[in-house]
Amino acid sequence: MKLKAAEEYVQVDDGPWAPFPDTLSQGGIEWKLLHVSPEAGTWSTMYRCPAGSSFNAHIHTGPGEYLLTKGRMDVRGGVAKGGSSAIAPGYGFESAGSRHDKTEFLVDSEFFMTFVGPLAFINPETGAVIVNVGWMEVEAAWNGFLESQKKAA
Ligand code: ZN
Repeated sequence: MKLKAAEEYVQVDDGPWAPFPDTLSQGGIEWKLLHVSPEAGTWSTMYRCPAGSSFNAHIHTGPGEYLLTKGRMDVRGGVAKGGSSAIAPGYGFESAGSRHDKTEFLVDSEFFMTFVGPLAFINPETGAVIVNVGWMEVEAAWNGFLESQKKAA
């Protein structure tokens, strides 16, 4: 008999925010890991995105759901280019295989997102995968960040 996965709780406004890698984003985005579910291959994160920041090109390997809690997020070019412009409070669903060449934040914004499967960051010209980010990579990055915080303290 396998054990049921443990319940968890995170106080989102408590604890540090990690800098999101500047090889995968621009403008000083920060993030925190809330939960990973190895059995489901899902992971849940919160992002804090200053005005003018953006995520580099990526493909959602599996579907994802987000809740924009603050600000505005332009996905797939925003509504002006046939994509979505989320305005807080806004919910969005991104299907498996959706490609986002640039996800932009024109004002200070925050959102929660649950991903099913990895996010593949790609070279926008060639489509080649630069890095696959799934629950394992995210958890390793978050634990590495927490360790570096402890050493700095
Ligand atoms: Zn995306």
